[in-house]
Amino acid sequence: MQPMADGSDWLSTLLERASGSPRSLTLGELESLLLLEGRDDLDMLYAAAHALKVRCCGQGVAVRGLVEAGNVCAKDCFYCGIRKSNAAVERYSLSADEIVAAAEEAKRLDYASLVIQSGEIESEAHTRFIEDVLRRLAPLDLGITLSLGEQTEDVYARWREAGATRYLLRIETSDPELYAALHPAECSWKRRVECLRALRRTGYQVGTGVMCALPGQTMRSLARDVMFYGEMDVDMIGMGPYIPHPDTPLAAKSPDMAAADRLELGLKMIAVSRLYLHDVNIAAATALQALADDGRERGVLAGANVLMPNVTDVRWRKAYRLYANKPCLNENASLCRHCLDRRLDAIGEHLIYGERGDSRHYFARS
Ligand code: SAH
Repeated sequence: MQPMADGSDWLSTLLERASGSPRSLTLGELESLLLLEGRDDLDMLYAAAHALKVRCCGQGVAVRGLVEAGNVCAKDCFYCGIRKSNAAVERYSLSADEIVAAAEEAKRLDYASLVIQSGEIESEAHTRFIEDVLRRLAPLDLGITLSLGEQTEDVYARWREAGATRYLLRIETSDPELYAALHPAECSWKRRVECLRALRRTGYQVGTGVMCALPGQTMRSLARDVMFYGEMDVDMIGMGPYIPHPDTPLAAKSPDMAAADRLELGLKMIAVSRLYLHDVNIAAATALQALADDGRERGVLAGANVLMPNVTDVRWRKAYRLYANKPCLNENASLCRHCLDRRLDAIGEHLIYGERGDSRHYFARS
């Protein structure tokens, strides 16, 4: 644990060990990194994680165009703005043509990968619809990530067969009790874990993640989340700070927390996950940008190596609002690309165009 005398000596030794080999930190050490507060210590943590990102994932930042394909959702998660009981949301579902058009826009911008995300629907009609979309996307030759929630192994296999190669399903928290406090009784933490296993068996590059700064969450619980990523041997991580949405039940139970503090915790989680896992893909989530203008770049400087600019038609951006303060509601995909180029250039980084940016961890395993 942290000695009293010379904190930064302790820290540099720990960071050096963590950078030397993956999974070399204990639960207590992960927790002590998440508890760091001094500016100098935090800067040291982020610098070590960013250096490791460059070593394990290379220079630059992989890019995926994000398509928010629809906000119709069968789930009623207490924190999420598109939960089924939120009557204030204008519901929409993009047509296959609209999704293909968004993908073509991504291609035109030289993004070689696409993420298709939506609310959660389990039905044969929806499964077929996604299969059809995937087949239509094949000629564009994009790397495709799906983020369409819990499905049966058979559905995952059909979508894999139809051309998807990666799947992102956040576990939200690795603590089953906290999970139960954030979801209605019909949502099962165990099923979510089973889905992650099914995705692995089906051959996807598998991604998961959590929200941080949740009410009732401790640093020890977040340290366990990072260990959970290791135990599940995931290839990709998409995580970000929880941001209360006023039309959800959890908002009233969420203590006030400054945006800067939510952001800092999100950055610490990125850095600590990088130091623990080394060669996985880690996205700087849009939620970071909702908390500070430069949130995504700071995510990259804390060890993230993936960005997901939105390519959904601006007409639908407002309707897909998971949390308050969603950024870039009126910025179309080309403006967004231009803005990101400029922002990354300012921190000595750049977007990697024309490459899919698959998870190196996945190929190292198989
Ligand atoms: N339904 C899909 C994906 C859409 S939601 C699925 O289950 O995979 C995508 C993610 O947004 C969720 O996994 C959750 O972690 C995040 N999210 C939802 N509400 C949020 C909030 N209020 N603040 C921050 N992130 C939120």
